[in-house]
Amino acid sequence: MLQSTTSLSPSASIIASWTHENWNPVLGCEIASPGCSHCYAMEIAGRLLKKNVQKYKGLVDLSKRHPVWTGIMRPDFDRLKRPYAWKKSRLVFVNSMTDLFHDPVPDSYLLKIWEVMAKTPWHHYWLLTKRPERMRHFIEKIAKVTLPNLWLGASVEHAQTLSRIETLRKVPAAIRFVTFEPLIASVGTPDLRQIDLIYVGGESGDRARPMRTEWIEAIFKACRRDGAGFCFHQWGTYGEDGIKRNRKENGNLFKGKTWNEVPPSAYDSVIEASQKWEKTKEEKKLRASVQKLTPKAQENDLFDTISPLHDLKK
Ligand code: SF4
Repeated sequence: MLQSTTSLSPSASIIASWTHENWNPVLGCEIASPGCSHCYAMEIAGRLLKKNVQKYKGLVDLSKRHPVWTGIMRPDFDRLKRPYAWKKSRLVFVNSMTDLFHDPVPDSYLLKIWEVMAKTPWHHYWLLTKRPERMRHFIEKIAKVTLPNLWLGASVEHAQTLSRIETLRKVPAAIRFVTFEPLIASVGTPDLRQIDLIYVGGESGDRARPMRTEWIEAIFKACRRDGAGFCFHQWGTYGEDGIKRNRKENGNLFKGKTWNEVPPSAYDSVIEASQKWEKTKEEKKLRASVQKLTPKAQENDLFDTISPLHDLKK
């Protein structure tokens, strides 16, 4: 059973009241495939560099017509521990400005990010990548844990990147999701077995590429055939009629309605952790002690609160 926006389950209602947050403990990236060509993060980083924000120095090349990532990446230690300070549960998009699994990010730093997520089970994390091979290797061989408050996803923009779904299917995860956004070409009727939900969306911005209704129809059919939830984000700069206009005017209706088919149990573990966090003094003491930990102490404390690797999917 999937959950649509028309009748929210109690869990979905709780989650809907939580604040959304972007958490970027890594800076910089590099184009992986055509879906990256108009990367909004690259544009934002370029704008910040032009305003002399020093932490982006060397990460984007401003000599081209539009800013382009250089492939240099660096950690942002100030942001790394930020989730400990958020007093209320949040919905956290991890690395909205980069791809955590690009090669320059060392396993040792990925482990630190995993530690923060493991020790803040009252937050819900989404992690999306265009490099699922590295994600699989890291989770299976390095982290060796599945976090119940972490959803793992792969981004697929055209048929040449469909193999990312094959890889994602093998990654142990509480929830696996695929984003077909920006959908810039047909992906046919993809194999979505063992994928919990998918998001579809068109590209926005001046240089956007149009998305066609028949491409979405084919993905919708695959969802119905394989049991994956279907979520529709937006049409983007080109509407259903193929006309270029403001993204907000084009809206987010498909087949005349909104779509947000999230499995009702998808947030159960994080809601439970959140309620525990709010109610028990012991949990609050733990939070205080975590905030006081020195970097050295955190090194020694890695992964002492998380369960061994297991695939939560039955
Ligand atoms: S992987 Fe993501 S952040 Fe990196 S260039 Fe591509 S779209 Fe941008």
